[in-house]
Amino acid sequence: MRIGVDFDNTIAGYDRLFEALASESGLLAPCALATGAIRGKTAVRDAVRLLPDGENHWQRLQALAYGPRISGAELLPGVAAFFRRCRDADLPVVVVSHKTQFARGGDGVTDLRRCALAFLRQHKFFDMSKAGLGLAEEQVFFEPTRREKVARIRELGCTHFIDDLPEVFAHEDFPPDVERLLLAPLPPTLEATGDALVRRFVDWRGIMGYVFGHVFPHP
Ligand SMILES: [Mg+2]
Repeated sequence: MRIGVDFDNTIAGYDRLFEALASESGLLAPCALATGAIRGKTAVRDAVRLLPDGENHWQRLQALAYGPRISGAELLPGVAAFFRRCRDADLPVVVVSHKTQFARGGDGVTDLRRCALAFLRQHKFFDMSKAGLGLAEEQVFFEPTRREKVARIRELGCTHFIDDLPEVFAHEDFPPDVERLLLAPLPPTLEATGDALVRRFVDWRGIMGYVFGHVFPHP
């Protein structure tokens, strides 16, 4: 058995960070952010894209969020407990992320993969002590395209994969025998999921309950 986990928006959450970056950059009215009229990454994206030159502004915000400002992203609730539980149960885990080395609209220098590794280090993933999460850097894989990500999931022999994007599970090359665990507070659209069979969870608590209650019951 081997559990594969996506990185962006599955391990690392960006909602508060995008709100902060949009506010700092002066792109969106501070009151819209302060009152919660614009809340979360998707709402910030939609609002920024409506501005003149919006697509470029959005790319710049993303280059910051996934790059030099990633330390301001949040570790999603329940992730640390899940990885710790896997470590304690000797259940192998890998992280497989679709991530290019450099951002479009970025400075051309900041390595997004190194930034993601720094985030994992910041949150004690690579700490082998009791307090850490016991993951090795060799268990983290970055792939430049979705197709290569799916190929990596297959090559690593994952039996389960956890991702926030139904499109990954719906990819034509996604191995049919890998169980698809979708982390999504809201049901995905039919077009995103296609006819892929996914098991949806609204949060990591649900994933924990499923994996350790059904898939891998451990004393
Ligand atoms: Mg993701």
